[in-house]
Amino acid sequence: MKDIFQTLKHHYGYDSFRPGQKELIEAILNGKDALGVMPTGGGKSVCYQIPAIIMDGLTLVVSPLISLMKDQVDALQTMGIKAAYLNSQLSYTDQRVIMEEAKRGELDLLYVSPERLGNHQFMSYASSWKLDLIAVDEAHCVSQWGHDFRPSYQRIPELMEVLPTRPVFAAFTATATKTVQNDMIDQLHMNNPFKHIASFDRPNLYFSVVKPKKKANHLLSTLDKKESSIIYCNTRKTVDKVYKLLIKKGYPATSYHAGISTEERSQNQEAFLYDKKPIMVATNAFGMGIDKSNVRKVIHYNMPLDMESYYQEAGRAGRDGAPSEAILFYSAQDIITNTMLIEQGNSPHARKNLNTMISYCKTGNCLRKTILKYFDQEVEWKKCEYCSNCDGETVVTDITVESQKILSCIYRMRQSYGAGLITDVLRGKDNKRIKQLGFDELSTYGLMSEYTDGDIKDMIAIMLSEGYLKLSGDSYPIIKFTPQTNDLLQAEATLSIRKKLKQEPVAKHKTIE
Ligand code: ADP
Repeated sequence: MKDIFQTLKHHYGYDSFRPGQKELIEAILNGKDALGVMPTGGGKSVCYQIPAIIMDGLTLVVSPLISLMKDQVDALQTMGIKAAYLNSQLSYTDQRVIMEEAKRGELDLLYVSPERLGNHQFMSYASSWKLDLIAVDEAHCVSQWGHDFRPSYQRIPELMEVLPTRPVFAAFTATATKTVQNDMIDQLHMNNPFKHIASFDRPNLYFSVVKPKKKANHLLSTLDKKESSIIYCNTRKTVDKVYKLLIKKGYPATSYHAGISTEERSQNQEAFLYDKKPIMVATNAFGMGIDKSNVRKVIHYNMPLDMESYYQEAGRAGRDGAPSEAILFYSAQDIITNTMLIEQGNSPHARKNLNTMISYCKTGNCLRKTILKYFDQEVEWKKCEYCSNCDGETVVTDITVESQKILSCIYRMRQSYGAGLITDVLRGKDNKRIKQLGFDELSTYGLMSEYTDGDIKDMIAIMLSEGYLKLSGDSYPIIKFTPQTNDLLQAEATLSIRKKLKQEPVAKHKTIE
């Protein structure tokens, strides 16, 4: 068997492996299924390409991006590796030629899209190949818990049924929580795989969250005309608006979204890649497979829908290891828009994912720690000193006591009302409904009169997103306790918020009983 170090040197010209590569390659070569969770740019491809070169039979690579397949295969061919791809853009004859080559054992690697697995002719050919390894790229797409579910990925196990012997199975992804990882293993029918889960920390990225009064102005003061930056917006309309603004103000910007013609899109992408227009304004359609190392800032103009997409997009900053920034702008309107979007979509996981994002925007804890905790990676530090919550420039307020007051009020209102009425009671508002219900008699009536409606609603929102409260009810949302509520009531858990709260001492005539 060829040596893995020699193969790395001979074909790629590299002297050493990146973290995890050697272990994953060895596991695969020893016939063990393998799961590699590594950041974008971490070098996942080498982990299945080297086994593919060394093993006798064929390696089938399932990859979602037709547009990238050609580039990958061209690169492999220049390195002297026998690789090909199959996709619908090839003529029928060309497809046949490639499948015959695979049958004759003339290929090391064959790239296919997951949709291909639904094709009868492909399946009957596959059963005649000597398949040693199936490598699944972007494997989180198989899981409904992930951020990019693609039903066609679930066809992958069908392939096993037509094969005479079971090949080794290797799955790779850049973002996956433990839940997604376990689901990937189940869905792909993997057999007790060897796992390499890389650290997700990006020490050169400064994370910040801002709630600007005017996003446009804040953007202009954040951007630098000479620096490469990506600005992600939630809709095409916002992309166009932000792009026009930047052009008007003389920024070297370009734009990208699915509504722009293919030709113009690729021109814009080139202009950005070669720094002719170093600022890119785009929807999330932009970025997969883009490898630009000197992006100094990734700004999210709107709150994204989930942490996995956010971290993947933000992670496009600072690939070269130089200090870079991931900045998230959010507004109350973003929360409303995203909540509406999710309610239309009716996905059971989407609400939870959005809550994580809301909580990230509002938390007073270390942002990097919050992100890493989401990816089930524990870190030792309490403060990283390199995010907007840790660098001492933002005011983080402990709101444990305030949240206890709110909980106490919700309890006294029998967990039967929405945020509006709870806020009114806490502020001691004089209205008919409160009187009818007798809530002006509660000990919590007026208990938080020194706060604004917005303050109290923000605190309720953070309790909702952190799981200390939940919404229920069909016609209008009622706020109820959860199993975690008690932790906060007993002060076993603490809660903090980034926003500065108005806290002048007010003559208090009420305390919680
Ligand atoms: P991923 O698929 O994880 O995003 P790639 O496999 O595309 O990452 O690798 C990213 C870059 O790192 C590529 O240019 C690749 O050639 C390079 N690379 C991979 N392994 C090594 C290594 N051991 N040493 C140096 N560079 C490497």
